[in-house]
Amino acid sequence: MTHSTHPQLLAFIVGPFEYIEAYTSGEHNGSPVQVRVYTLPGAVEQGRYALGVCTQALEYFAKVFGIPYPLPKMDLVAIPDFEAGAMENWGLVTYRTIALLFDEKYSSIAFKKQVTYTVCHELAHQWFGNLVTMEWWDHLWLNEGFATWVGWLAADNLNPDWDVWTAFVDGDMPRALVLDSLRSSHPIEVAVCDPSEINQIFDAISYHKGASVIRMLSSWLGVDVFLAGVRRYLHRHKYGNASTGDLWNALGEEAGIDVGRFMQLWTKEIGYPVLNIATSDSGEVHISQSRYLSTGDLESHEDEVNWWVPLSVMTHNSSAVEPLTLTNKSQSFNLPADGLFKLNAGQTGVYRVNYPRETLLRLGEECKKGKNGLFKNTSDRVGLVADAGSLSVSGEQKTSAFLELVIQFENEDQYFHYLNRTTSSVWSQISGHLSSIISAWYEQPGHVLSAFKALRRHLFSPLAHKLGWEFPASEEYLTAMLRIVVIPNAGYGADKRIVAEAQDRFWRFVRDSDATAVHPNLRGIVYEIVLQHAKDEAEETGVWEAILRVFKDTSLPTDQRYIALSKLGDTKSQALVERLLGMTLDSEQIRQQDVIYAFRSLGSNMHARTYLWSFFSRNFDFFHERFVNSMKLFDILIKSSIDGFSDDARINEVEAFFVGKDTKEYDRSLRQAIEAARVNAKWVARDRADVEAWAEKINALGW
Ligand SMILES: [Zn+2]
Repeated sequence: MTHSTHPQLLAFIVGPFEYIEAYTSGEHNGSPVQVRVYTLPGAVEQGRYALGVCTQALEYFAKVFGIPYPLPKMDLVAIPDFEAGAMENWGLVTYRTIALLFDEKYSSIAFKKQVTYTVCHELAHQWFGNLVTMEWWDHLWLNEGFATWVGWLAADNLNPDWDVWTAFVDGDMPRALVLDSLRSSHPIEVAVCDPSEINQIFDAISYHKGASVIRMLSSWLGVDVFLAGVRRYLHRHKYGNASTGDLWNALGEEAGIDVGRFMQLWTKEIGYPVLNIATSDSGEVHISQSRYLSTGDLESHEDEVNWWVPLSVMTHNSSAVEPLTLTNKSQSFNLPADGLFKLNAGQTGVYRVNYPRETLLRLGEECKKGKNGLFKNTSDRVGLVADAGSLSVSGEQKTSAFLELVIQFENEDQYFHYLNRTTSSVWSQISGHLSSIISAWYEQPGHVLSAFKALRRHLFSPLAHKLGWEFPASEEYLTAMLRIVVIPNAGYGADKRIVAEAQDRFWRFVRDSDATAVHPNLRGIVYEIVLQHAKDEAEETGVWEAILRVFKDTSLPTDQRYIALSKLGDTKSQALVERLLGMTLDSEQIRQQDVIYAFRSLGSNMHARTYLWSFFSRNFDFFHERFVNSMKLFDILIKSSIDGFSDDARINEVEAFFVGKDTKEYDRSLRQAIEAARVNAKWVARDRADVEAWAEKINALGW
C-alpha cells in the first residue's frame, strides 16, 4: 500500500552503510515493525542504544496516538555531514552522527539523554508532521513544538528516573524564554512570505516555546484529556493538512472548553508576561502582568496583551495547588498576605514571577526545608532560581538579590539526603546564571571576578568533594548528572584540590594513554579546568595540543571528538585562539558542519571574544559564501561572534559593519545577537555598583 507523502519528506540514501536491526513487540502496532540503524562501517554497534529506544518508542507512540505506525519499516541513518540535527523523512530518519550514536562504554551520559530524546522527537513526526502535515509554514511550530513536547514525554516514559521534565524547566524552557524576552523575537505562529524566512523560524521559539505552551496547556487540561484531544485531531486529519486552530478545536471538544480563545494569545502574540506581586495590609494580594523584556525598558504601547495565565498557587495552608487564573492586567486574590506562596507550581506556566526582594529571600529559606517546606518538587526550586536570575538581567530585581538567593543554597549537601538526587537541575540552573553574570561582567575589575570565584567554591566545592570523580555502575543517572555539574563549577572557582586532581588525571589520560583516568562524562570538564589553570603559555600550548590530538582521533566516538573540539576554544592564549580560528577556514581540519562548535566555545570565552569578532568580520564574505546553503549554521556563527559583548562601543562597531549589507537571509539572528549584547551592556551599567558592593562583602568573608 502506498501513501501520499509530502515531497519534502522523501529521501533516498546511497552509500557504504552497515546496519543492525530489531523488531518492535507489535503490542500496539498490530504487528512488529522492522527497525534498522545504518552507520558508516565500524560504528554500527554505537547504534545499538538508539535501536532499542526506537523499537520501544514506536510502540509507545502507537498507543498514545491511537494509530499504528503506518509503514512496515523504520530506518535510522547516521550521516557524517549533515546540517540539521535530524530530518524526519517518512520511514527513514537521517541524523547527525552525534544525535544517533552512543557508546555505552566510551560516550558521555549527557548524550544518552540527547539521543533518546532526538530519536523520540523524530519518531513523533511520523504522526505529527507526516501523517498529518501542516497547512503552511505559519504552523511549523505545531510540528516542532509538539514533537519536542511529546519527544520528552516518551523519553520520560522510557526513563522515569531521569526526571526529564525538571531538566526541561532547567534547559529547553529558559532557551525559549531568553530568546522571547527580546524585541527581535517573533510570535510562535509567524507569517512566512519569503523562502528566506523559513530557515529563520526553525528556532527556540518554534521548538521550545512551542513545547512550553503545549506543556502549560496539557498540565492545565490534564495530560490524559490532552492526549485524547490529540488522538481526535490525528484521526480527523490523517493523510491531510491541518492548522493550529484544528488542534485547538479537537482539544476543546475533548475538554469541553474553548481552548483556542486563550491559547491564541500564546501563539499569535510575541513575548510572555512577568507577574508583579504586591501585598497589602487588608490581606489581599495584587497580581499584575506586563510583557517581559530583558532590556527592561518596556513602553506602554508594547504592553497591550492580557495573557491568560494559570497561576497554580502553592501555599502552606493546603497541599493542593489552587487553580486560579489571571486574565486581566491586574487582579486581586485572596492569598496569604505574608507573601509565603509560590506561583506556577511545577513551573508549567510560561511566565516569570517577580516577588519582592524580602519575599524572594524568604522563599529561598523555604527551599532548605525540603519536603516540609513550600517547595515540594525540584521544578519549583529551579523555577525560583531561573526567574530571579532573569529578572536581575532586566532590572526588575537586583543582581545582588539573585546572588543572595543562591547563597542560601550553601551547605545543600547537608540536606542532600532528603532532597536527594534531583538537585542536579537546581545546581545546573544556578551555574548557568552565574556563568551569564560572569560573562557579562568580563571586563570588570579583578576583585569582582574573584568574588564570583569564591562564591563558586563556596557553593559547589563541598558537593564536588563529596561526590568524587568515579561513576559507580550502580549509581543513579541524576547523581551522575549532579557530579557533572558540580566538579566544573568547583574547578572554575579554582578549588585547589579539584584543579590538582584534574591536572593529574588529564596527564595520565593523554600522556600515559590511561583511558580510565578521566571518565568520558568528565573529559570536557577536565580539558577546560586544565586549560584555564595552565601556569604559562608553554604549558597551555602543551595541554591544547593534547586536546587537539583527541579531536583528531577518529577511533573515538563522535561525542568524545566534539567534546574536545568544543573545548579548544577555552584557551586564554591569543596564539592558540588564532590557530583554532585558522582551522575553521579549512574543512580538512574542521568539517563545515562542525565549525559551530569552535565558534560557540570562542564566543563564550571572555579572552577570545574580541579576536573572534575581528576574525569573523574580516572573513565574513568567505563564511557567508561557504554557508550559503546552511543558513541555520551561519546564524550560529553570527550569534557566537556578537552576543557575548557587553559594551556599547563594540556593539556600535558591529552595527556599523553590517550597514549597507544585504542581511535578508540572516536578519533575525543578527538583530537578536545585537539586542542580546545590548541587554548585557544595560545590565552591567545598571548593576555595576550593586555587584561591586556585593563583591566587597564576599571578599571580606575570606571564602
Ligand atoms: Zn522536529
